[in-house]
Amino acid sequence: MAVPTPSPCFPTVGEPLFAELRRHGYRRLALQVPAGLLRSADETAARISEATGARVAVLVRACFGACDLPTASEIGGAEAAIVLGHAEIPNVVAPVPTFFVEMRQPGGDPERLAQVVVDAGLPRQLGLVASIQHLDLVDPLIESLGRRGVTVRIGSGDRRLQYAAQALGCNYTTAQSVEEDVAGFLFLGTGRFHPLGLAYAVTKPVWALDPLQAILEPPLDRARLVAHRQMLVAQASSAQRWGILVSTFAGQSRRGMAESLVRRAEAHGRSASLVLGDRFDPRDLLGRGWEAFVCTACPRIALDDSEMYPAPVLTPPEFLMAIGERPLDQYQFDTFH
Ligand code: SF4
Repeated sequence: MAVPTPSPCFPTVGEPLFAELRRHGYRRLALQVPAGLLRSADETAARISEATGARVAVLVRACFGACDLPTASEIGGAEAAIVLGHAEIPNVVAPVPTFFVEMRQPGGDPERLAQVVVDAGLPRQLGLVASIQHLDLVDPLIESLGRRGVTVRIGSGDRRLQYAAQALGCNYTTAQSVEEDVAGFLFLGTGRFHPLGLAYAVTKPVWALDPLQAILEPPLDRARLVAHRQMLVAQASSAQRWGILVSTFAGQSRRGMAESLVRRAEAHGRSASLVLGDRFDPRDLLGRGWEAFVCTACPRIALDDSEMYPAPVLTPPEFLMAIGERPLDQYQFDTFH
């Protein structure tokens, strides 16, 4: 039976987490880490074990996000799980008590970063979104930008987001909620994953600012990104046999939506099958006769990885474009609520 998580977010692997684990008296714990932290997972497990006296097992499967929490069967009898690198998604219920260690990163000079933004001539009304690791820098950066005449808005997002200004690869409602009041967005963090997602989700320009290197990237070319997706939609629009991917991960499952898409396909004279899975290895979908897929699991499978699959993978809003229920020229990001 699903149990509520025990008020569980910690900035780093350290004494506050250890104290909480000791307070519960856990003897067996499971540790889940994202791919980027796999190398140090054993060392982290040893630290937790030493500080708490519990035996800590490392899950072999790296996690994508707080949406694919360890399942009850995966944790092998552990009493609780520790998930590194992600914030809790408030509307996802964990199958066992789960502690989230967000791995907040210190560093980043707000004065220097603000000057980089001003020197680059960015608009004076900006929305700000940050990866979970750099959220502590948001307030100081807003203050530094304010002193230089830049007004910054941050939004609070919907029930899938824990913090104001937080970015999740499937949900940029913190940005969308302030879009009308700003002329562009600044993403604070590293890598292209979030700036790309944000560029699909909002129509205003998006700049990415690496807080540690103080490097500001040129704005993403949204028109080119969207044109590529529209081309894929057009290619898939003649498909007769559709596979509708449905996730078995706790926070990626949209079964009701998938069933309604099957009905929409049938109403348009197409056939559609529900396809259940967790990671959706492209090899498992080969040679089964599907001409196109709709991914109701993580939207980034369609947006970032479609080319790895044996047929085009669309998001649910893109599917509605492909069957003519939505206009192709009004692109909509697949926000996972
Ligand atoms: S659904 Fe995808 S983007 Fe959203 S939290 Fe999970 S892995 Fe990240």
